[in-house]
This record gives sequence, structure tokens and C-alpha cells, in this order.
Amino acid sequence: MLRDKSAIVTGSTSGIGLGIARALARNGANVMLNGFGTPEAIEALCTGIQREFGVRALYSGADMRRPAEIDTMVAEACAAFGTVDILVNNAGIQYVAPVDEFPVEKWDEILAINLTSAFIATRAVLPTMRARGWGRIINIASAHGLVASPFKSAYIAAKHGVVGLTKTVALETARNGITCNAICPGYVLTPLVEKQIDDQARTHGIPREEVVERVMLERQPTKRFVQIDEVAELAAFLCTDAAASMTGGQLSIDGGWVAQ
Ligand code: NAD
Repeated sequence: MLRDKSAIVTGSTSGIGLGIARALARNGANVMLNGFGTPEAIEALCTGIQREFGVRALYSGADMRRPAEIDTMVAEACAAFGTVDILVNNAGIQYVAPVDEFPVEKWDEILAINLTSAFIATRAVLPTMRARGWGRIINIASAHGLVASPFKSAYIAAKHGVVGLTKTVALETARNGITCNAICPGYVLTPLVEKQIDDQARTHGIPREEVVERVMLERQPTKRFVQIDEVAELAAFLCTDAAASMTGGQLSIDGGWVAQ
């Protein structure tokens, strides 16, 4: 389905990004991974994807806080693959504190990684996508790109910003064969969230199941985590020709969270 296509997935050494990179590779796309990890672990991810799916899997260590490194990542992918057809802006971090105690440096870091990096990478890939008359830009926003919760001011501002960026890019590329969409997941069971369950169970002195149902999934009516593969398959579908008319959207995959 995606043979002859090449993708960059930011923040793809773990969690949702890795799931998306694997789904794109399974459908035949070459992929450039990005994110943090030990050289051995990253090498294992790349060779694993190459062996399993018969595609090329490269890695860029670009730090999403640094615009120049993002430009280099895109240039490296273009040089290696000849083009970048699919860009998934997925890298993201979280920090939780009341707004009047929120450290300014954490605010700046979250805005840089969760929002500005998507702008820089989009800006960098558009010339090659326009030249080919085909492109898919997928921004991993969040239910928190559509509604708020307390204590996550920077994350929520950034994710609302990603939704706005998505709409603007969709309008500017609508006649170029390029689509740009935001995926808005609810709670997804990534390694990061797994760890939070154990931490909270210890802190509150309650079982894991209770943390999941009463603390984490309070606002998610299905009372189950969204699965990484569910998000990954949605991203893969957006890369098909069947999704050519889907652009500028905010696609909720949140167990009913924002329907309330
Ligand atoms: P994760 O921590 O498992 O993965 C984050 C990835 O980003 C990792 O590969 C990490 O190395 C990379 N990363 C972090 N800082 C970076 C930087 N400065 N430069 C380059 N890479 C960097 O997290 P996840 O849960 O898979 O989240 C992925 C995306 O999905 C994020 O944008 C997050 O906001 C969003 N999201 C997650 C959930 C959830 O419940 N897990 C829900 C909604 C949205």
C-alpha cells in the first residue's frame, strides 16, 4: 500500500511513535525513526523493522528542541530516500503543575517539542511534497488539543496550537495533493503511562485496576486505554489514497472522552 513512500516519524523510539513507524513499515514505507534511546536499542529497532518488513529503516537523533537539527533530519531523509512523503509529528513530553507554579523553562520546552517542532518539520518537508504532488502530514495532538484539564497548561496550550497549525497547513496545501490531520488520542497505554500506573498505585496505596479506572480513565467512558495499534492503524489509513479528502481534521480516538 505504501511501497515507494518514505516517512519520518518524530519521537518514534517508543510508544505511539514506534507503533506508527511499524505500521507504516508494515505497509511498505521506508521510515526514519527519531527520539532518544541507547545506540544499541535504536540499532535493534532499525534492524528489527528492516528484517520484519523488508523496508529501509534509518535513524535521526535530532533533538526536537533544536530547529537546526530538525532541518538536518529532513535533509538527511530526503538525501537517503529521495523524498519525504509522510511526516508524523509525534514527539511530545508532559509536565504537571499549577499554572502559577509552572516553571517557565518547562513551558518553553513543552512548546518547543510539542508544537514548534511540528511547524519546523512541516516547513522543511513541504517543498519535496509539493514537488511530487503528494504528501501526508499527521500531527499527534491529544484529547487535550480539544478540551482542557487542570495542571497541564503548557501541554494543553501546545496541543490546541497543534490543532490550529493542522487546520492552517491543510488549507495552504489543499490543492497540492497533500493532507494534514491531527489525531487526538485519549489515554494510550504507552510505556510512559504504564510506569505512571505503578507509581500512582504505590503513592495512593491502591491496586493498579483502581488507578486505571478511578484516577486515569475517569473521563474516558469506555474505561479502557486506547491501544497503540489503534492509533497506528488510523495513521496508516490517513496515508492511503482513500483518505485523500480527509484534511484539516481533528480525529478523536479517545473512548468517547470529548463527546461528553
Ligand atoms: P513516549 O514517552 O512513549 O514517547 C515519546 C517519544 O518522544 C520518545 O521516542 C522520546 O524519545 C521522544 N522525545 C522526547 N523528547 C524528545 C526530543 N526533545 N527530541 C526528539 N524526541 C523526543 O510517549 P507517547 O505516550 O508515545 O506519546 C507520543 C505522543 O502522543 C506525544 O505527542 C503525546 O503528547 C501524544 N499523546 C499521548 C497520549 C498517551 O496517553 N500516551 C495521549 C494523547 C496524546
